[in-house]
Amino acid sequence: MGDSVVAGSDAPGGIPLCSCCGEPAVISRPERQHHLCKTHLIEDVEARVAATIGKEGQIRPGDRIAVGLSGGKDSTALLVILSRLLHRWQGVDLVAITVDEGIAGYRADTLRAAESLTRQLGVEHRIVSFCNIFENDLDTLLKGRETQACTICGVLRKKALADAARAAGATVIATGHNLDDEAQSVLMNALRGDIPRLLRNTGAGRSDLFLPRVKPLAAISEKEIAVYLFVQGLFTLLPECPYTRYALRSEVRALLAKLEWQHPGTMLHLMESKRKLEQMCAGTPVMEKLHRCRECGDPCSGVICQVCRLRHSVLK
Ligand code: SF4
Ligand code: ZN
Repeated sequence: MGDSVVAGSDAPGGIPLCSCCGEPAVISRPERQHHLCKTHLIEDVEARVAATIGKEGQIRPGDRIAVGLSGGKDSTALLVILSRLLHRWQGVDLVAITVDEGIAGYRADTLRAAESLTRQLGVEHRIVSFCNIFENDLDTLLKGRETQACTICGVLRKKALADAARAAGATVIATGHNLDDEAQSVLMNALRGDIPRLLRNTGAGRSDLFLPRVKPLAAISEKEIAVYLFVQGLFTLLPECPYTRYALRSEVRALLAKLEWQHPGTMLHLMESKRKLEQMCAGTPVMEKLHRCRECGDPCSGVICQVCRLRHSVLK
């Protein structure tokens, strides 16, 4: 589906019609000036995910893909789409990995959803927990440090997923980050003045320093993912992590959602800005080089990695 698609007209009841076939639409996309029905939305989302994977060479024949499956809507959509696209690549298989951080009142429901989905799709499922890896659950580790929740959790979760993926024999890690997440990260890093982080892209290229991390949903908006799941009866309303309220991301998310509503295409423009910056900075000192952590040997941009830094503070 290209940009030549024209906006569909409204049915007598005011329901927009699909720009491809004239059936009642389930989603309007003002930034692309078209509406899509259920069939064409599913087709379009899956085709755009396949295009992202193809364009960036994210998956290679023979890969074993570790899918980070939180059980929430993004990773659910990712696993569903990858299992449908799998036949396109020779000898590629999937293993889903769920990290149980140990967050009371939140994780149990998403864990159940992850187990049920992998059973339904016939995908191997592994669960790893902070308790086993870091000897404490997140709730305990965060006592008195709640405002740093997402920073600490993010570092530890990344480590847990990477180690579990390596232990499962994976050659690549796929996560469910969508267009909204990516645009939020660009804006957050710009707000913090962290340009090296803004430009960091561990999915680009393969290296023996780390398992490549790819984001096949990076071009798909949160709204598209929610509707994609909803029209197929795959959408489950799950509780939100109680620590999100401390996160800068929550404020940036609300701000960007408002801007996107008032100025459709804002998130796509932010991503375009990042791409242009990447091109301008290629090969310059602002692009950080990766080394091995002096203490654990994991890849990092400083002398010791963030996990080891936490080992000296939070994890001791
Ligand atoms: Fe961890 Fe923050 Fe996500 Fe909660 S919202 S799971 S604390 S990163
Ligand atoms: Zn380290």
